[in-house]
Amino acid sequence: VAKGAGKNQWRRYQSHLHDVMVQRLELRSALDHAVNEGHFLLQYQPIVDLETDEAVGFEALVRWHHPSRGVIAPDQFIEVAEESGLIVPMGRWVLDQALHTVAQWRRILPRARQPYVSVNVSVRQFRQQGFVDQVRASLDYAGVPPQALMLEITETLLMGDDEQIWADLAVLQDLGVRIAIDDFGTGYSSLSYLRQRPIDVLKIDKTFIDDMIGSAQQHALVAGIVSLAQTLNLTVVAEGIEDATHRQMLAQLGCPLGQGYYYSAPLDPTEALAWLRAPMPLAAA
Ligand code: C2E
Ligand code: MG
Ligand code: MG
Ligand code: MG
Repeated sequence: VAKGAGKNQWRRYQSHLHDVMVQRLELRSALDHAVNEGHFLLQYQPIVDLETDEAVGFEALVRWHHPSRGVIAPDQFIEVAEESGLIVPMGRWVLDQALHTVAQWRRILPRARQPYVSVNVSVRQFRQQGFVDQVRASLDYAGVPPQALMLEITETLLMGDDEQIWADLAVLQDLGVRIAIDDFGTGYSSLSYLRQRPIDVLKIDKTFIDDMIGSAQQHALVAGIVSLAQTLNLTVVAEGIEDATHRQMLAQLGCPLGQGYYYSAPLDPTEALAWLRAPMPLAAA
């Protein structure tokens, strides 16, 4: 009996594996189609000065606008896009589109209120030949200075210590593009790289902000990251600010910048422009 049951389990497991593989293949081919047809859109989440509550920049976040399934969040497809290499053409579109949009905003707004745009870049994109040239060309084409662009890379992706990537980042930083470490604190990497490498900004991962209110230890950890950043002359952005208490605690710690639902969810471009013109609709309401 036991043997029979084991066999059935094995068959069920195999057929489950089969389903998963078929689903991934289907996803991949749908994604391929979406890349060719341009079925993506970008939303923009304000990155806010915690003292003035004004947006200094926006993070561009990609969504897949599926013709029948509606708007699909990136965690549903970024992994498959990376595995399949489709992240390369998709990422190129994201960069061009984000720079195009920020160029429009900067033309409309007075100099002091001109925002930058922060774009997520996967390591696969960095590894392609000519990525630096592509960034340069995109900046030229959009007609914005390098200071209008920040690139976000995750800490985990840098753990391989790929010298070519660091060299490319250094070239981009010399141009004036800002480099941010995304999801900082989740990568368990050695901290010494912060001192030696071309990095301008640490984005403290949302998970650290989540528990700040309830846990003194967590609060101390965030305080530590903020003061570490100050010592190293890095800017800090706190992710996932969801309420006024988060904001107040972070401002008290001297954290200069933050983003999160308390301020605003990611917005369509026209909504984001409205936000730039009249900051903080939440507090005003
Ligand atoms: P991320 O770069 O860490 O982006 C922050 C994510 O947190 C976004 O999710 C954002 O909508 C969400 N978020 C912001 N504020 C809050 C908050 O207060 N509470 C909560 N619960 N969530 C908040 P989203 O847009 O689903 O993006 C997920 C991830 O997908 C991003 O994480 C990023 O790693 C990746 N991603 C998004 N766009 C791109 C892209 O164009 N290229 C690449 N390579 N990755 C992207
Ligand atoms: Mg990001
Ligand atoms: Mg992040
Ligand atoms: Mg994150």
